[in-house]
Amino acid sequence: MALDYTKNQPIIEVYRCVQTEGSLAGKPHIIVRTTGCTHRCYFGEGGWCDSWYTSIHPEKGKYTLDDIKKFFSDNWDINHLMLTGGSPTMHPEMCNEIINLFKALHDKKGIVTIETEGSHPLVTDHRIDVISLSPKFSNSIPVIGVETPQGKIVDQKMIDQHNKYREKYDAIRQLLAYHKNYHFKPVWDGTPELMYEIEAFRKRFNIPKHKTWIMPAGDTREELIKMYPIVLDYCTKHSYNFSGRDHIIAYGDKREV
Ligand code: SF4
Repeated sequence: MALDYTKNQPIIEVYRCVQTEGSLAGKPHIIVRTTGCTHRCYFGEGGWCDSWYTSIHPEKGKYTLDDIKKFFSDNWDINHLMLTGGSPTMHPEMCNEIINLFKALHDKKGIVTIETEGSHPLVTDHRIDVISLSPKFSNSIPVIGVETPQGKIVDQKMIDQHNKYREKYDAIRQLLAYHKNYHFKPVWDGTPELMYEIEAFRKRFNIPKHKTWIMPAGDTREELIKMYPIVLDYCTKHSYNFSGRDHIIAYGDKREV
């Protein structure tokens, strides 16, 4: 059934920015942020998911497909689109429609990226140019008794919900095989335990180092500045790509940047 272009969709942000992460860093992008996520990530000292308003406490969608179409045509000079969340693959029909709109406007030459933790497979009319894969490891599991950003206390139900979709290896295999290209973008906190999991994942999916961008953990300038040299040194020594998180350095936790 065709989607209603006048109805609000689970989209909470649409804006222009310069991409600062991964293989397309430096390029102006249009970002469409969906709301709703399969996961409930909590990174201990690193805090809750930095887009918790799409996941732990998801806000209601406020944009229609007509709004998105208009934004694309008002910003026709940008030919890169990134779908992010939350977990955009939870909304396959809507993602497909948004990608079709963007590809049509750019004569099929627009470049589309989708950021995903890999919880669902996704089939689209136009294969996606870049799957930006950030799977979540055991350091993302919430801890019983901790308070969420809006004061809910973590219980076993929340932990079970988080783990339910965390290691969906069939979905990840489908995403990497069906779409055109991908990069693997794990966040590293500097510990050997987490690097062990990252490496096990990389080897399980035969991901080469040149498709791997390691990002420093941290959602404040102070934490990132501490982590940058640790991750840069590791990437230099072990031949990985490094991805900074310059939007946090530049803007802190400001939204829509
Ligand atoms: S998967 Fe991403 S959006 Fe979802 S809770 Fe984890 S960090 Fe947040």
